[in-house]
Amino acid sequence: MLHRIARFMWPLCALAMTISAGASALDIDKCDSTSKAEIQTVHAAMTKRVNATVARFTWLTEKQRDELKEKWSKLKIDCEDDRNKCSKDSVADDGLIITGFAHGGLGNTVNVCYYNLVEANLTLCSLVGNIWHEKGHADGMPKAFHHNNPAKHPEVLNDDVYRMGNAAVAECKASMFVGTADRALKGRALLALGASCSKESQCNSAKCKDGKCVCKRDSDCGSGRKCKEPVFGTPHCE
Ligand SMILES: [Zn+2]
Repeated sequence: MLHRIARFMWPLCALAMTISAGASALDIDKCDSTSKAEIQTVHAAMTKRVNATVARFTWLTEKQRDELKEKWSKLKIDCEDDRNKCSKDSVADDGLIITGFAHGGLGNTVNVCYYNLVEANLTLCSLVGNIWHEKGHADGMPKAFHHNNPAKHPEVLNDDVYRMGNAAVAECKASMFVGTADRALKGRALLALGASCSKESQCNSAKCKDGKCVCKRDSDCGSGRKCKEPVFGTPHCE
């Protein structure tokens, strides 16, 4: 149920545009102020285009499409940047980065690894696609075997969940954030030790403590040095 994408899949669009977020009852948890504002921006645009987006899911039945629309208002989004599921540990193995995940059972929560999206220079429409992809999982859409490993099994990109995400990106680029309005997501990632952070996945070390990136493993400290973590204190390199 992880949503994993190749890094640097989308080009960076540098031009920013202000979008006024409409009133929203969306329940957003565990996000910092930057990610919350970006998710609210995207969610407001998605809500305006929910019927048009779902209309693009032509391979679904009308009943399925109606259900997706009905459940839209119940959507809940959590930023899970501090959880292991958003960790970047496997990036070195396969070049993939986790951008979100959803629970397979009943539930309306979509989990976003916001700063992994930032790190990959992804855009507002990437976030739209990510949310619809994970909503596909949350709503129980069928997924292909090896769904989480599209690099080795590219045929999985034709399953219902990937198709929903991709159709939502297309709707976004056509009618939500057109052209350069589909700008890079705001926020800072790939931060060095000592840099200010609010979420673990902003740091190269994947550890943020007391507002600063700190070491997690010896390898974060460079050769010959060790990461020391006192029981009551801040991890540091020695
Ligand atoms: Zn998925």
